[in-house]
Amino acid sequence: MKRALKIVGISLAGLVLVAVIGMSLFIYKARYGFNFYETTPPELPTDLTEDAILIFSKTNGYRHSDAIEASLPAFRQIVRQNGWSIFTTDNGAVFNPEQLAKFKVVVWNNTSGKVLNEEQRQAFRVYLEDGGGFVGIHAAGDNSHQWEWYEQEVIGADFSHHPLNPQMQQSMLYLEPDAANHAVAKDLPGRWEREEEWYIFSTNPRERDADVLYTLDESLINPSGNFGFLVTDKGWGMGDDHPIVWYRTVGKGRVFYSALGHQAAAFEEPFHLTMLENAIRWTGKLP
Ligand SMILES: [Zn+2]
Repeated sequence: MKRALKIVGISLAGLVLVAVIGMSLFIYKARYGFNFYETTPPELPTDLTEDAILIFSKTNGYRHSDAIEASLPAFRQIVRQNGWSIFTTDNGAVFNPEQLAKFKVVVWNNTSGKVLNEEQRQAFRVYLEDGGGFVGIHAAGDNSHQWEWYEQEVIGADFSHHPLNPQMQQSMLYLEPDAANHAVAKDLPGRWEREEEWYIFSTNPRERDADVLYTLDESLINPSGNFGFLVTDKGWGMGDDHPIVWYRTVGKGRVFYSALGHQAAAFEEPFHLTMLENAIRWTGKLP
């Protein structure tokens, strides 16, 4: 009997240990990523046209698998409708001057972690500052990328957390009056109700000269990202002015960032798809 109890006790302790290690690895991966860099560039399709879009979905940190999977056919559809062409990859070695030059827009599609090595980062920076286009989606704006220029100058807001109580919440977006006549607002609603994992930023992108497209009605959600006794300092939101989608210029390049897109369902939402299409067209200076 004593022996049986001992075995049960050891087994339970083992399970708890495995759970703690698993949880710690998950948190570490989401925050810092396990960094892996490709050095052999991918083969690009031979039929890329002049108006080509690069969809980059590499994740060295947390992977929004369902959203990424659902987004690829959605991007293909947008591109096909407009007569543009597309290349989708998770290979960071595509960030070299020769290959980047073939694309009007680079989309960071729920990327996470440190996805590029120093040389690839430099190629991306030169591409953007010399007039390239960039669209960042959801996790592309989280704080796992560990790249100051990218977080400060490209995204332009410091990610803090997302709600956990609950994680997904219904809320309302309001179109910024100043943006109503801008190309990125074409065919988009003034009020837009939807469900999302809403991002909370500890700095406001307006402070870094971003133009806001949508703000979030934070009064309709519980912004707390506190998690039991493990996280106790994230019980706050951004208050009355909570930008959630914005755009800007970086050098000669154009940047569009949207914190929307956690769920696969986002890539079936007509307004979301319209917004992404506008974003690609504007950042890529496309017809
Ligand atoms: Zn998410």
